[in-house]
Amino acid sequence: MINFPKQHRVAFDGSFDLGQASSQSPSDTDNKQLKKRLKKLTKRIDELQRILYAHDHHSVLLVFQAMDAAGKDSTIRSVMSGVNPAGCQVYSFKQPSAEEKDHDFLWRTAKSLPERGRIGIYNRSYYEEVLVVRVHPEYLEGQNLPVEVDRDTLWQDRFESIRDHEKHLARNGTLVLKFWLNVSKAEQKRRFLARLDEPEKNWKFSTGDVAERQHWDEYMNAYSEVLGATSREYAPWYAIPADSKPYMRVAVAEIIVEALEALSLEYPEVSEQDLTRFQAARRLLEDE
Ligand code: ATP
Ligand code: MG
Repeated sequence: MINFPKQHRVAFDGSFDLGQASSQSPSDTDNKQLKKRLKKLTKRIDELQRILYAHDHHSVLLVFQAMDAAGKDSTIRSVMSGVNPAGCQVYSFKQPSAEEKDHDFLWRTAKSLPERGRIGIYNRSYYEEVLVVRVHPEYLEGQNLPVEVDRDTLWQDRFESIRDHEKHLARNGTLVLKFWLNVSKAEQKRRFLARLDEPEKNWKFSTGDVAERQHWDEYMNAYSEVLGATSREYAPWYAIPADSKPYMRVAVAEIIVEALEALSLEYPEVSEQDLTRFQAARRLLEDE
């Protein structure tokens, strides 16, 4: 089992209390220092990804979930900014299509799981099925679930499916790390207002996001339960304070670096046989 980083990690025993998770970064953080640190970390992520690729026994799945305007996009962009684009892929999951709703709820994301040697990033994920769908249970009506599905145990059953799925992935070499970007309600309001006030941010504003905000408490209850039920030693959740973007980015990058380092990746060793072949190849080239 991997020794996962501890900072901001959600307990594995289901005891998570969202009320105690802070959206604010520790007060002694200096933005200039954080930016410097982030640069170093993104460089390190790139190095580690190269070894991950050469090693070719593991893949990495990074899951990002958050309320609107928490900064999922910009965190993904800045944390992965140094990585070879061929080595990582970002998938955004929005409202499911008719085809997607015609399958079980893990189908659409399973199609985009990272290959060995690669980092896959989910901007939203199958967790929407126990978050937005829990807050809006009417969405279940469009899912054509079998009549036998028990609505009383549905959410617990989905947690179990998710745990089983992630355990399966972990067993088969996927490092699963999940980030909840914990933005406060007050900070979200400030960011929405900035989107209205600043013309260059207008494009980001969506009236739908303000409507979703009315369900804040229901979302927090759903997050609380989801994180407690699905943070496990094979696929931990991290509750990242998200009111300060520089802090959030460094916190995420640090966890990724630490977890990748814990995989003890190595460049494959060259065998005696390979060395002999290399020498023959060298002779061929030199004799040209
Ligand atoms: P951005 O606003 O930065 O472009 P976004 O991820 O918020 O990114 P939107 O198109 O605004 O993208 O919103 C996607 C919406 O799709 C979210 O409200 C999300 O909750 C919803 N969604 C995602 N998965 C599901 C699902 N399985 N069932 C129902 N709704 C879903
Ligand atoms: Mg949105």
